[in-house]
Amino acid sequence: MSLIIDVHGHYTTAPKALEEWRNRQIAAIKDPASKPKVSELKISDDELRETIETNQLAKMKERGSDLTIFSPRASFMAHHIGDFEVSSTWAAICNELCLRVSQLFPENFVPAAMLPQSPGVDPATCIPELVKCVEQYGNVGINLNPDPSGGHWTSPPLSDKSWYPIYEKMVEYDIPAMIHVSTSCNSCFHTTGAHYLNADTTAFMQCLTSDLFKDFPTLKFLIPHGGGAVPYHWGRFRGLAQELKKPLLSEHLLNNIFFDTCVYHQPGIDLLTKVIPVKNIMFASEMIGAVRGIDPETGHYFDDTKRYIESTANLSAEERHQVYEGNARRVFSRLDTKLKSQGR
Ligand SMILES: [Zn+2]
Repeated sequence: MSLIIDVHGHYTTAPKALEEWRNRQIAAIKDPASKPKVSELKISDDELRETIETNQLAKMKERGSDLTIFSPRASFMAHHIGDFEVSSTWAAICNELCLRVSQLFPENFVPAAMLPQSPGVDPATCIPELVKCVEQYGNVGINLNPDPSGGHWTSPPLSDKSWYPIYEKMVEYDIPAMIHVSTSCNSCFHTTGAHYLNADTTAFMQCLTSDLFKDFPTLKFLIPHGGGAVPYHWGRFRGLAQELKKPLLSEHLLNNIFFDTCVYHQPGIDLLTKVIPVKNIMFASEMIGAVRGIDPETGHYFDDTKRYIESTANLSAEERHQVYEGNARRVFSRLDTKLKSQGR
């Protein structure tokens, strides 16, 4: 029996007090006298427990997954709001909540951190929060936003040297980054329908055109939402790599880039598992997230992605085990260490 590890979950169901505190923080950007203190946000363990037990944990039990890598709500990261100080306070609060969830449910949730990114601010400023989250909070990965501007793409590509201090820390700790944008504040791009998928595709192409993984041979990126347009257009990307005189994608990118299974229909998962090598695919659902309804064609939740993994004809039992557990333990090596310490 595989341990079913969902590598992509966010705390989308946090108590209302969190959002209310955030709204006060945002209001105070224009009216500094009204700035809320961190200590004014009070959320009890019972409240945390209830929001998890009635939501994510209930669904995990229903659907048969064991453990979720759990990070702050992606759309709420909203790095474009305020300055570094605003992002820094907000990231610390959100990361602490995910830590507390992981302490209340140590068998079911393992934390991954959001970073206090801010547009135009040197990514190296995120290092102290990253270090705290790994060393003190036991985080097994981070979420890295390639576009802190929220849909205006004002930061340099992920291959730019300004990102390197973060990569150096990731390599030192052997933690992967999920490349994950946040809310779009550009009305051209719907947050979860366009901006997320655009960013997944964009991040992959930034890696393809660069030699980032020559500089960091052990750097690991998880590209979520099934890799955006990447698996569907694999031929285009292979062809572009060839035109650019890059090595085959199998050596140029696939020792470093992984895709999750947050693809919400059977044909999408069939394509993903046909095109992308099994060693590069990790199970994930991102529930309770962008698409919360029931698919009238199947009668099941769109984001119940385990059903599609079970049903696809492309995977053997051994390959399913890789997708559910083996790859996650290899890529998130700190998760593997934690599981072993729990006798799992
Ligand atoms: Zn997400």
